[in-house]
Amino acid sequence: MPSKKESTQSAFANALAQIDQVAALLRDSYEDKAAFDAALKKIKIHDRLVKGVLEIKLDNGKKAKFKAYRAQHNNARGPYKGGIRFHPQVCEDEVKALSIWMTWKCAITNLPYGGAKGGIAVDPKTLSKNELERLSRAYTRLIADHIGPWQDVPAPDVNTNGQIMAWMADELLKIKTAKKQLNQNYLATFTGKPIILGGSQGRDEATGLGGCYVLNQFTKKLKLTPKTTTIAVQGFGNVGSWFARHAARLGYKVVAVSDSRHTVYNAKGLDVEKIWAGKLKYRRFPEAIKAGLFKAEVLPASDILGLDVKIFVPAALENAITIDNVKQIKADIVFEMANGPTTTDAEKYLVEQGKLLMPDVLDNAGGVSTSYFEWVQNLYGYSWSYQEVLDKLKPLMESSFADVWQMYQDHRGISLRQAAYLIAIKKVIDNMIVRGQQA
Ligand code: NAD
Repeated sequence: MPSKKESTQSAFANALAQIDQVAALLRDSYEDKAAFDAALKKIKIHDRLVKGVLEIKLDNGKKAKFKAYRAQHNNARGPYKGGIRFHPQVCEDEVKALSIWMTWKCAITNLPYGGAKGGIAVDPKTLSKNELERLSRAYTRLIADHIGPWQDVPAPDVNTNGQIMAWMADELLKIKTAKKQLNQNYLATFTGKPIILGGSQGRDEATGLGGCYVLNQFTKKLKLTPKTTTIAVQGFGNVGSWFARHAARLGYKVVAVSDSRHTVYNAKGLDVEKIWAGKLKYRRFPEAIKAGLFKAEVLPASDILGLDVKIFVPAALENAITIDNVKQIKADIVFEMANGPTTTDAEKYLVEQGKLLMPDVLDNAGGVSTSYFEWVQNLYGYSWSYQEVLDKLKPLMESSFADVWQMYQDHRGISLRQAAYLIAIKKVIDNMIVRGQQA
């Protein structure tokens, strides 16, 4: 993947370029061009960027500092919503780009939210559990005034999880208690919490599973049969592993998966459940193979891009597909499960080659949708079963796909991403105009 500088700069530039592309298509449909232009100008600017340097005490008594951010993009449709990631590449531009994509994602799926994203520039693998807890609590103190169930609702993202959300929820509650501001259920501020703390059944697998609901509708439209449809999944973390497992359960032929170190490939199809078990037990694919858990060829991580498959699924980090490596892609379809995995110029090349790209803002919206279900359960005191959650997720993802597909059919010549963005940006601009926010 590209270096930190290339990657982060182009994620934000991509997000802005995507808005401009769609605005050019949308503008004609607005009678009040001045209102449209004013709203457009506003959606390119973030409502708020909270940033600071967190200092924590390490276990050895020394102190360490970490840069931290929370970008709130737009709340025309409801409270800000978006994950918190812990990763060395986190920077201002990255959280800004990711928060813009959250705004679109919530609009496409009709969730009553705007977009936000946050993160800390840290490699969490270098910290002990206690250090990680101190860092999570310090981050909460940084953003405490700007989050809440009706303000901004964070969730896990890369390298963060339910435990981290639990520490953050606890810290927020302490702050609000000290300030005697206990008029809200602050647990509903964070989603992706452990189930015993008000987390939702199904949240862990929701992003991957939601993607598979979209995949099934998409392949039906293309008249593809799952068992002959080969898939390669880049990234085997939360999103990639659940996507690969559910795709295999639905009968798709998953022939390759990768993590940051290796690709494992078997042209006859992989036993994804065994790979999952092997990864859990041995952490590295080659060791799981050596232990006899599954059979596969081991290739370098980057080789996954060029495999001869029908569908390539980037499910790791942003900017995985750039103009420098896009020519390697043999797949007919790129199905984005990571956020922002394809740069604008690489996508242009793919579309010119007649390939189809199903965009992240639709494909990975199962995560935020289930976060929304968690938020609703917390606010109303409900506790839905696993099946109830899935029964709500499936129609939500399928109807969001149907809207995007319809828009794609109605406007010949646009890309699937442009179709998704047309829906999202129009909804946000219409909300701003009807509220008079563009003025
Ligand atoms: P994760 O940390 O659980 O997993 C990331 C995976 O990517 C790991 O397997 C890692 O080894 C792999 N990876 C890193 N660099 C790689 C490389 N160069 N080549 C191949 N693999 C590489 O993170 P996640 O939660 O699965 O998130 C993945 C992506 O999905 C991110 O873009 C995230 O923003 C997005 N996303 C996550 C969720 C969610 O619910 N977790 C929801 C929507 C979108």
